[in-house]
Amino acid sequence: MNSSMFDERKIDQNYKFRRYLKEHADELELDRQFKMLHEKYFKDFDCSKCRNCCKRLGVSMSEIELDKICKYYNLDKSNLINNVLKEEYGEYIASPCPFLNKDNSCKIEKCLPKSCIEYPYTNKSERLYSLLGVVKNSEVCPVVYKILEELKTIYNFK
Ligand code: SF4
Repeated sequence: MNSSMFDERKIDQNYKFRRYLKEHADELELDRQFKMLHEKYFKDFDCSKCRNCCKRLGVSMSEIELDKICKYYNLDKSNLINNVLKEEYGEYIASPCPFLNKDNSCKIEKCLPKSCIEYPYTNKSERLYSLLGVVKNSEVCPVVYKILEELKTIYNFK
């Protein structure tokens, strides 16, 4: 993401927009708008040219997911736990993602954890209650950034 896109003014505006939505948006209508914009912008976006989420947020998986990955790719689970991943609140995490190749391809693409599949969650329900996450993700994900910008236009927010 172009860093100039994220000056202090933009961050401040996004937090103000979050507050505006909290006070003015209808929960179901906002979910419908998020889903529509998610489909619109992800339809033509090639995530393999970005991978900001893998680089800046990293990976998080449950033990069941880790087991599946190790089995599918014939990886040594103890080695991953001891040397690559960290356990936090019952999840195995690492940042940046250690499974991202230099060419931006993913070493575990055939067995992705749910959190990778679902990120950035903009097509999920109850966005009105997750706007803080949306605003934070707009600093990482260029698609979330575009979605927020279009929502500002829809709501005539300046
Ligand atoms: S940050 Fe967003 S656009 Fe970039 S790879 Fe992740 S989901 Fe795709």
